[in-house]
Amino acid sequence: MNDGIGLAEKMLGLPGLTVLEVEDVPGEVVITAESTRTKATCPSCRRRAFAHDRVEVHVRDLHCFGRPTRLVIKKRRWRCRTTGCIKKTWTEKLVGVAPRQVLTLRAGAEVTRQVGQLCRSVASVATEYGVGWDTAWAAVAFHGTPLVENPSRVGSVRALGVDEHTYLSAKPQHATIYATGLVDLDRRVMIDLFEGKSAAKLRRWAAHRSPQWRRGVRVVALDLTETYRSGLSPHFDHAKRVADPFHVTRVANRMLDQVRRRVQNETLGHRGRKSDPLFRIRKLLLKADERLDESGRDKMLAGLRFADPHDEVLGAWLAKESVRSVYLTDDVDEATALLDNAIGACANDDVPEIRTMAHTLSHWRTEILNHHRTGASNGPTEGLNFCAKQVKRAARGITNFEHYRLRVLLYAGGVTWPRPIQPPRITSTRPH
Ligand SMILES: [Zn+2]
Repeated sequence: MNDGIGLAEKMLGLPGLTVLEVEDVPGEVVITAESTRTKATCPSCRRRAFAHDRVEVHVRDLHCFGRPTRLVIKKRRWRCRTTGCIKKTWTEKLVGVAPRQVLTLRAGAEVTRQVGQLCRSVASVATEYGVGWDTAWAAVAFHGTPLVENPSRVGSVRALGVDEHTYLSAKPQHATIYATGLVDLDRRVMIDLFEGKSAAKLRRWAAHRSPQWRRGVRVVALDLTETYRSGLSPHFDHAKRVADPFHVTRVANRMLDQVRRRVQNETLGHRGRKSDPLFRIRKLLLKADERLDESGRDKMLAGLRFADPHDEVLGAWLAKESVRSVYLTDDVDEATALLDNAIGACANDDVPEIRTMAHTLSHWRTEILNHHRTGASNGPTEGLNFCAKQVKRAARGITNFEHYRLRVLLYAGGVTWPRPIQPPRITSTRPH
């Protein structure tokens, strides 16, 4: 083992191969090796096989001391001499090198980790390894799919989050295409996603889960869309539905924006401009009351005095704050009283937008209060949607949904990656 070839074999670390030559050529290190097996049996008739000849395959391995490595393997071809046997000749299988794959298994696993766990673009990793995009992606699909489909990745889920995010922005060819993410709210991982945001698709997704898994889901958090609520039925009828606080507050904020825009148009006859008082306080209006400082509040009230002749925007602001107040308490009874007060006051308001909001809130009353009963919210989902956004950015215009799904789940799906080897730590250049 003290000769050069022995050292090279030790560094290569692939069993069943003997190194013949290590060459340093521009851009890469070329390691030529041949298989050492001397005996084989025919896979068909189980009799002894005879060495026929050797074929050369070129595969890309992990980098060797930072330099790209090409493995040239002289594989053996075997022949069966038994008369009548259907197996004439065949090429041997090697440990660590899958048939017809340009990357060795360990190089493919590393490409998958770079693309999946570190969210790098396939093209950049492919260039680093000196292979084509398709080769790199084939490795990601080969190594990544079992990691994502592993049943222990999802496990049992108590609190499920359902939320949409933009998958493809609108173009002349198509409207915005959405994707629905299913999230384990306790573990904060994306367990699955599907294209679209229809009730039918959610129902179909639920139908594909096992009845036992569905029974384990006790809480489902969702935004205030009727499609998801109806899509959860009948498979998740037993679970408590929770309207996500972020989305409830957004309903109030949107209502306030609508009223502000309408009053702006009615009083000045045009959309908000930089110098218009209502336009200038648009962000202050949406800010939480307790986060407004003295000068901010003065500025907001001055703007309202000046540009809100019938106190409609002020009314909308008060309505928004009454909805927000529901989340300032953790107590269910207190929250119930606050929400019922808000709904009661808004339902009789003169401003139509406020009445519409009251209708929405009373429609979702049980779900809104379930937040206080269960403590669940879709907060983790929003964080995971950001992860999906990072995948889209790294994937640079991905249009294949299956590829997108695999990449998002590898990045944010709680995949158990094979443990990297932990080397002993070097703390000093001169160890004792
Ligand atoms: Zn045979």
